[in-house]
Amino acid sequence: MELKDQYKEVLKRLRATYTKTPQSFLKFDNVLELTIATVLSAQCTDKAVNKVTLVLFEKYKTAEDYMNADMIELKTIIRSTGFYNSKAKYLQGIGQKLVHEHNGEVPKDHDALMTLPGVSNKTANLVMAKGFGINIGVAVDTHVRRLAPRLGWTRETKNTSRIERDLNALINKKDYLDVNEFLILHGRALCGSKPKCNECPLNDTCPTGRNSLGKSPLPLT
Ligand code: SF4
Repeated sequence: MELKDQYKEVLKRLRATYTKTPQSFLKFDNVLELTIATVLSAQCTDKAVNKVTLVLFEKYKTAEDYMNADMIELKTIIRSTGFYNSKAKYLQGIGQKLVHEHNGEVPKDHDALMTLPGVSNKTANLVMAKGFGINIGVAVDTHVRRLAPRLGWTRETKNTSRIERDLNALINKKDYLDVNEFLILHGRALCGSKPKCNECPLNDTCPTGRNSLGKSPLPLT
């Protein structure tokens, strides 16, 4: 079986398994909110970020609001997301950069996004995909990093840049965001630190699942 066909089969099954729009993903109404929420989600669950942004987005609506933020107040609001000192600086820095260099708007440009404080390659990929509908690369978070090698999509298990490089080469661009979101859902449901291969709908097409259930290896080319 070709690896490309296997990834499509995996995605097909995951789409059939997780049919509802997940409430657990980050909530946002515009690209600025998406950017801020994604920066806050570093080392924090989407659920916890959504609780914080419910309050934050009521008060901070523009890049200028973040630029002029009262840091004590901002830190208090975002405290529960962890690393709040750094994150508050990032948010204020994002506001400043957007106001001074982008007319207060989030730039529709991956490289420009990467110059914003606290914005990683993963964040920039997500903002481009979810905010602008442009697929630049697969956003590799904890779940994608864990599942991609288990599924045989990369040999790399640690380096997120190499994992992204392998995934970008394998996955069709239109599927980049789905791969991110469905692997997150599957990682949360069944394929966590201790994968439940015997319950998994992918266990006949996943090399790790086949191995753990004592099935013969699937020849992937
Ligand atoms: S078969 Fe096991 S390792 Fe493969 S995706 Fe399912 S739970 Fe994860």
